Amino acid sequence: MLEKTLLLRSIFVTKQKKFDSLGLKSEIYRLEEGVSEGELLRLIDQINNDDTFHGILVQLPLPDHIDSQKVIHAISPTKDVDGFHPENAGLLSIGTPRFVPCTPKGIMYILKHFNVELDGKHVVVVGRSNIVGRPVSVLSSLKSLGNATVTICHSGTSDLKQFTTQGDIVVAAMGSPEFLDASFIKEGACLVDVGINRIERDGKSTIVGDVNQASVMGKASALTPVPKGVGPMTIAMLVENTVLSAELSLN
Ligand code: NAP
Repeated sequence: MLEKTLLLRSIFVTKQKKFDSLGLKSEIYRLEEGVSEGELLRLIDQINNDDTFHGILVQLPLPDHIDSQKVIHAISPTKDVDGFHPENAGLLSIGTPRFVPCTPKGIMYILKHFNVELDGKHVVVVGRSNIVGRPVSVLSSLKSLGNATVTICHSGTSDLKQFTTQGDIVVAAMGSPEFLDASFIKEGACLVDVGINRIERDGKSTIVGDVNQASVMGKASALTPVPKGVGPMTIAMLVENTVLSAELSLN
């Protein structure tokens, strides 16, 4: 629990530092774990109606007594810089995105930056969360953005290897430390490792991804590192979405 709390705290601070470094105002509201759902909803309503804020991000996961969906629905869709509100998820799924969730947006940015061709390729996404797996699969399949053929796998997929070994690009977003080793991929596959898993190794706490990096070296054609791969892109995309929100507010 302490590890989780420290990790979350470092995520807030990293995000705030990035905003500060760019001269953008940001404010962290640190609420007690026992805060009521009503109090949280009232705070969101207050920020929804405050013109000095262009974006609202509620750091998930929330404590069990709070309905996360209710909270996500309460954020104004025009300030939903995380892109989790159903209105923004819907816009994405019909191919006219407004705010794209930051991690999937960062993944698409990385693939584009490194000229990884998606058109006509097979993208295999392991994980179907609304935060990562599902939006990545939508983005890569959109004609205007990826035009790839996409397979989405989850914990109910039987014989995962049968699918991952077909992937030209494999996006690992399952939250299982170093799960995908060389036997799960085909020669030359491009791997995007989204996982952030804290484990104990050699008596030290360390962060690893969902890909066994040592195992896939020499077989994969490319691999995003963990840490300092997808993570920093997520924060960069949060900034981009916030600036986009400010621009949209002027229209
Ligand atoms: P999540 O909500 O727990 O979703 C995990 C997904 O993986 C689920 O769809 C689950 O299937 C699937 N899964 C789990 N074990 C599997 C297995 N053995 N075979 C196939 N599918 C399996 O997690 P998330 O929020 O998407 O995050 C995934 C990972 O990315 C975590 O390590 C998280 O820390 C990390 N993450 C990183 C960033 C970043 O900025 N780098 C951002 C967000 C998340 P079911 O749906 O059937 O349960």
